[in-house]
Amino acid sequence: MKMGEFNMNKQGGTSDASTVESEIKTHLLVQHWRKDFPILHTSLYGKPLVYFDNAATTQKPSIVIEAENHYYRHINANVHRGIHTLSQQATEAFEATRNKIRQFINARYEHEIIFVRGTTEAINLVAQSFGRSRFKAGDEIIISAMEHHSNIVPWQILCQQTGAALRIVPVSDDGELDINAYQALLKPKTKLVAITHVSNTLGSINPVKTIIKHAHELHVPVLLDGAQAIAHIPADVQDLDCDFYAFSSHKLYGPTGIGVLYGKAELLDEMPPYQGGGDMISSVSFEGTTYNKLPYKFEAGTPNIAGAVGLGAAVDYLTAIGLDAIVKHEQSLLSYATELIANIPELRIIGNATQKTGIISWVMAGVHPHDIGTFLDRQAIAVRTGHHCTMPLMERFGVPATVRASFALYNTKNEVDKLVSAIYQARELFK
Ligand code: PMP
Repeated sequence: MKMGEFNMNKQGGTSDASTVESEIKTHLLVQHWRKDFPILHTSLYGKPLVYFDNAATTQKPSIVIEAENHYYRHINANVHRGIHTLSQQATEAFEATRNKIRQFINARYEHEIIFVRGTTEAINLVAQSFGRSRFKAGDEIIISAMEHHSNIVPWQILCQQTGAALRIVPVSDDGELDINAYQALLKPKTKLVAITHVSNTLGSINPVKTIIKHAHELHVPVLLDGAQAIAHIPADVQDLDCDFYAFSSHKLYGPTGIGVLYGKAELLDEMPPYQGGGDMISSVSFEGTTYNKLPYKFEAGTPNIAGAVGLGAAVDYLTAIGLDAIVKHEQSLLSYATELIANIPELRIIGNATQKTGIISWVMAGVHPHDIGTFLDRQAIAVRTGHHCTMPLMERFGVPATVRASFALYNTKNEVDKLVSAIYQARELFK
């Protein structure tokens, strides 16, 4: 990765005293943040919950839970269609989140923010609207070997529909994209590049600015799957200059069932609707229909209004803490955990990219990941085991599955210690 792509704010060169002081400060901060998440105070099997499945979904702070609750108790009405007070309040609350998202990802306009069900729907929208209306036999779409199934299958369906073909950027043994191979794949017939910002299995932060720069030299638009980046590293869509950016609310401490597709206005404007129905039209007759303006053209039907309200609260929460503090804490957890986990005999970490978020995947010789996962669960430690919806990546690394621990702002070094000690116990048990 080129310097300046993303400055991980690594600590270093500090004196012992100031390191200790900074650790105490972080510890106090994290204890403070933990109080915001009611579920973290539950116990399983008589032990306090250690939640390390944040890449699958994050826990929700009270402010998010209460925002949804307040919406249903005091505001609930349908948006955009009513002149009565509640409908106007619901519309205001819904649209307020659009503006918060615009600011959070630094989009130019609110109408570049499309509410969808999540990352999966966002990518399907681009495939079926942008792709289906433009791609033809012989065209190519570049993805990578580390994509989540939701950034593979929509393109495969599109290829079946249009005759276009997928080209795959390979991944190195360390879990980094082969940028030379990527450059060689970029050709005049490339019509889109769709790459994950951060790998959900490996934690690798991809050099997306470089990827976008090369694609744009050939006027090829780039979609970034931001599901694993959005709560962990800055995602400034203007700075990245990506053409589409997709993410899910539930991975950034918000509710499930809502997410965002960002698209550059000039591209969204030209794209046909993805679904037809209420709200996406400006007039309908049996002779023909004219579509609504952006963003409503892509928001057919009653949206997840309560979800949007919760997402707005989640963005407020993250903004108040500040991504810098989160990055610093999660990077420190990552280095701490990587060192301890890498030292466990017979254990192999899959994914050692130089730039990573707080995700560690591993396999242990002779023990199936599911056995480790079940053992950890009985210690009240939640990790994910399986292929993580990245089956081609499992094949690339020659493993059927991995165990994955993924960190969020509320995790602690003490929890990492519990995880490591439980892995040692599992190793003894299954040896
Ligand atoms: N892409 C990546 C990288 C992911 O990690 C996920 C969720 N695991 C998705 C896409 C799909 O997100 P969702 O299920 O919220 O649509």
